[in-house]
Amino acid sequence: MELGLRNRLAIVCAASQGLGKATATLFAQEGAHVVICSRDSRRLAAAAKEIQGIAASGARVLAVTADLTKPAHIKRLFRTALRTFGRIDVLVTNAGGPPVAAFSDLDDRTWQRGIDLNLMSTIRCIREVLPVMQKQQWGRIINITSFVAKQPADDLVISSTVRPGILGLSKVLANRFTREGILVNSVAPGFILTARQQEIGAVRAKAAGITPPEYLEKLGKTIPAGRLGSPEELASVIVFLGSERASYISGTTVNVDGGFMKGII
Ligand code: NAD
Repeated sequence: MELGLRNRLAIVCAASQGLGKATATLFAQEGAHVVICSRDSRRLAAAAKEIQGIAASGARVLAVTADLTKPAHIKRLFRTALRTFGRIDVLVTNAGGPPVAAFSDLDDRTWQRGIDLNLMSTIRCIREVLPVMQKQQWGRIINITSFVAKQPADDLVISSTVRPGILGLSKVLANRFTREGILVNSVAPGFILTARQQEIGAVRAKAAGITPPEYLEKLGKTIPAGRLGSPEELASVIVFLGSERASYISGTTVNVDGGFMKGII
């Protein structure tokens, strides 16, 4: 299936590793130019080089160092992308995850950081691209959220609190901007094997008195697919939503969880 992504420009946030990197890689392999960001310049440059090495011919990869909790960094990221490519067709909002902790262990500072990292960064990134996409009368915004937006987890309190807000925001924006050719959707990953998932696994394994590999094996058995997902499996869904082919999908959230979530919606 031709996705129509050649020469489009996709900005993928937090893409030096994990879900963001896999997504940026697939966009580049489909012929889109990609702009990636994360805080650590060295790791980001290495990721950009790797992605460029396997990108489709003609697709360019640009790395912009940015801390997504800092409004000025976000502004610079989008300014640089627009100055370099003259357009922004796809935005994938993404960031690191907030700490694994119970409600009673979280102070105001930790809450505020989680809100800045996972909610305000999404709001600020979308605010930057909307006028550009309105001018183009074409755009795709895909928010990477989490299954906890629909099925909260007791030890992911901040995530379980802020992610539903992104689904609400997504719906409001889809209602308002779809008529201008800007489609807004979210993906809700379940358990995808990345550094973040290993980190959560280590905390949960310790609490359960088992080793991290034992925890991950047990976890896999609770998922109807019988295993954790790969970053590429999530990336495929995001790249489709970012493509010409997803032209009649807006205001929705796609679960990518191997059947893990138990609810109907
Ligand atoms: P990861 O830890 O593997 O990668 C996170 C990326 O974010 C890295 O590139 C890191 O450099 C970057 N980053 C962190 N803080 C940043 C900041 N302040 N500014 C800019 N970049 C920053 O995590 P992942 O598994 O790829 O997860 C990505 C997002 O998806 C997280 O918010 C996570 O909570 C969420 N999520 C992941 C899963 C999963 O199974 N992996 C499931 C549900 C939700």
